[in-house]
Amino acid sequence: MMQMKTVGVVTTGGDAPGMNAAIRAVTRVATAKSLQVLGFERGWEGLLTNTFRHLTPRGVGGIIQLGGTMLHTARCPEFKTEEGLQKAVHTLNLNKIDGLVVIGGDGSFRGALDLSKRCETKMIGIPATIDNDVYGTDETIGFDTTVNTAVTEIDKIRDTAISHERIFIVEVMGRQRGFLALTVGLTVGAEIILVPEDHCELSEVVETLKENSRKGKKAGIVVAAEGCGKVIEIAQVIEEETGSEVRLSILGYAQRGGSPTARSRLLAILFAEKAVNLLCEGQGNRAVGLRNGEVTSIALEESTSGTKPLNKNLLKLADMLAT
Ligand code: ADP
Repeated sequence: MMQMKTVGVVTTGGDAPGMNAAIRAVTRVATAKSLQVLGFERGWEGLLTNTFRHLTPRGVGGIIQLGGTMLHTARCPEFKTEEGLQKAVHTLNLNKIDGLVVIGGDGSFRGALDLSKRCETKMIGIPATIDNDVYGTDETIGFDTTVNTAVTEIDKIRDTAISHERIFIVEVMGRQRGFLALTVGLTVGAEIILVPEDHCELSEVVETLKENSRKGKKAGIVVAAEGCGKVIEIAQVIEEETGSEVRLSILGYAQRGGSPTARSRLLAILFAEKAVNLLCEGQGNRAVGLRNGEVTSIALEESTSGTKPLNKNLLKLADMLAT
């Protein structure tokens, strides 16, 4: 078995709270195992341009509580081309990178898989995205933080909704998937949750809100994932059909940042330890994750080919609870 000497670490795709905690833990666990750690900057761009810094245990001090990523991140379309991939391979070979820890979402994992087919460097994916949409893990780094941020905001909105007996539509992130909208909707006690995975006719939404009003519940919170259509149009229809005043709140980027919760940090720490351990055992091209409370790993290939199911029973439960 080849002796691991140098590992690279990179954060790619959208930033997520807890990425810094993961960088810190990868660096310190790897250093404890006598490995050298190089942190590539601005996502895949750092691999294309050979831009990195040496990460030391001291150098990653004071970042565990910070949102975002100290290594920066960027979308990198060139990385999707053969030429771009070859540049990255060149950088990995030039710096004798034995293992690369890729912290990001499913797009990042697809990139890591593409790269793994062209070089000897062993790839390990650490799932970090506020969307929680990575197959093979029950939860991703950052998800819990974003859920809590959104819940805190919507609790405030509910005060106004109840006082003014108004309906509020709150848009949360999630262009393709509704994990965030579902968890946030359930935990704020939303009257209606709209997710991209479960098409809901607007007429049904209107009917539910009218029924609520008849029962004396005039205020309402509709939590909608970004991918469910234009919330402004949904708001207009609800206003016209129900005759109630409807207000709109788009939570936007405020959901993405901020100090990671203890849970996001803990996941980051446990995933990082697992990633470094896998590399030291000579394993590569795997994605770490949490399954039924245990830190595990699956092949990157499997992680990138699967689609994580949304628990639609929870939507039914949310309906039952919103009476
Ligand atoms: P996330 O990792 O959060 O899902 P993206 O989907 O933007 O974020 O992916 C991050 C980066 O990974 C992209 O900028 C791109 O360079 C690379 N990437 C995404 N999808 C692929 C793919 N199918 N093949 C190769 N590289 C990809």
